Amino acid sequence: MTEDVLRHVSDRAYSGDRSMQIAQSIEQPLSDQGIRPSVRKDCSSENWLQNLCQLALEARSLLFRARMWLESIASRARPLRQSTGPLQVIAFLAGFALCSACLVGRASNDASISPSSSGDLLIRGGLVLDGTGSAPKLADVLVRGGKIEAVAPHGRLQATPSVHVIDAAGRVVAPGFIDPHSHGDPLETPGFENFLAQGVTTITLGQDGSSPATADFPKLFTEYEAKGLGVNIAMFVGHGSLRAASGIGQSAHPSDEALAQMAQMLDAALDHTFGMSSGLEYQPGLWASSGELEALAKVVGARDRVIMSHMRNEDDDQLDAAIDELLAQGRFARVHAAHLKSVYGQGTERGRAIIQRLQQARASGIEVTADFYPYTASYTSVSLIFPVWAKTQADFEANKITRRADLLQHLRHRVLARNGPGAMLMANAPYTGMALDAVAKQLGKPFEVALVDDLGPNSGSAAYFVMNEALQGALLEGEMVMVGSDGSPTGFHPRGHGSVARIIEREVLEFQRLSLASAVKKMTSMPANVLGLKDRGRIATGMVADLVVFDPEAVQETATFENPHQLAEGFDWVFIGGQLAFESGQGTVDRLGRVLMPAD
Ligand SMILES: [Zn+2]
Repeated sequence: MTEDVLRHVSDRAYSGDRSMQIAQSIEQPLSDQGIRPSVRKDCSSENWLQNLCQLALEARSLLFRARMWLESIASRARPLRQSTGPLQVIAFLAGFALCSACLVGRASNDASISPSSSGDLLIRGGLVLDGTGSAPKLADVLVRGGKIEAVAPHGRLQATPSVHVIDAAGRVVAPGFIDPHSHGDPLETPGFENFLAQGVTTITLGQDGSSPATADFPKLFTEYEAKGLGVNIAMFVGHGSLRAASGIGQSAHPSDEALAQMAQMLDAALDHTFGMSSGLEYQPGLWASSGELEALAKVVGARDRVIMSHMRNEDDDQLDAAIDELLAQGRFARVHAAHLKSVYGQGTERGRAIIQRLQQARASGIEVTADFYPYTASYTSVSLIFPVWAKTQADFEANKITRRADLLQHLRHRVLARNGPGAMLMANAPYTGMALDAVAKQLGKPFEVALVDDLGPNSGSAAYFVMNEALQGALLEGEMVMVGSDGSPTGFHPRGHGSVARIIEREVLEFQRLSLASAVKKMTSMPANVLGLKDRGRIATGMVADLVVFDPEAVQETATFENPHQLAEGFDWVFIGGQLAFESGQGTVDRLGRVLMPAD
């Protein structure tokens, strides 16, 4: 923790004489570790105004807890997406009123990190969501040596002056969020503030079949850490990258020897990675047969890693077949559908049918999970809409002459099926922020001609408004579906800066599709389980202290499709390994991320 951060705050309740008084008057077994059972009420100050505010904060905290408790009971007892019940409204309004009433008091309470050299931390009086989906508990969390040492009902643990104290009254304390599907280049943007500002403490890279060169991960990881990482990174090895490294490249019929070599390279790469990603809608993954994928699944399964797949096709009429192809690999390894979505599918029932397909597979013993980002627009390379035979620049250049009519017809049909040229927002210069129909109008030609003559498959990326809110909402409700962003620090889509905030703002508070406990579970213990991270993703004794403290009511997604690179707001403190990594209003405090290693 930097001196700057420590200098501008002080812990009112534990400063000066009172701390000394407590330290001298109590003898308990834990006292030499910096903690002790409390023998005094918290509101002990002589200052009646501070007392009043402290009481108000506690009351607000209790009311907020009541509301969350009601939410969790209500979400279990009734079908999802119903209107707010009267008790919830009362609890919510009372909590909000108290919050507003003690705003002045909060100003001095907001940042209560007390100066200390021990590095130990007591997060006091927050509503602890432990990441398992359990109801919130008003509790104190003690962190020592980067790990969670104790979680106890509020007031049972007391701090000595050597412990930093965070007053989390009225806030939620959750495990740091883990993003199971993210993007970015740690050598270019090592800070990953877009994730950190949302309470994300671990991201996953090497997705969609594409990872850095597989030969020397340890050397690469040393370079990453030398840059100073803002968040932890869990790496995947890309199936496409393995194809390149083993010389298979774009071949549809690799030899047995080449396949065996690729399997061997995969096995070696799994020493340093959490599994294999595939991108079967992209080059060169689209050339892989089911036989090839199943052979690789055996290697992944033997190491108890996971296959994380951008499936063969996300169009609604192709999606079931794509899921079945993933499930076939699931006979040999744990499998995970990345950014589960239906392109141009409609309605809740269709969403539920997709979830049921996954549920049935799980019932039959296949360990399948999925992640989801909370937007109805996807974002990927423009090559996605080009046919298989015109995706690479070379194929495109040849076929735009020899098969021009076919190409134009394919593009026209595909774009219209994906809600038309008005639903495709270009991300790269010179057309950044323009929809394809506007580009076509500016160029004075039909959009498919513009795609062939002015853009091409390698003209960058675009956001595609191709999803249906009702269908996607039903997907999020799936018990095996967790939250990922599919975002990056630089992508021209708000998901990289706003996914977590949007889940809390919309899916939890506005639509009440999920309880907050359930949303937190989908962003913590669920992705931790998929990655096999046994010491992260939950608040429990012995776990690594990656933590986030936030007020759900204050959480705000500020990124938009027009301005996608704006940091989310409302996540007050983010800790990695028990140290302050991000503080709202201060930004990144310290680069504390590490490259994580899979457990064998
Ligand atoms: Zn993808």
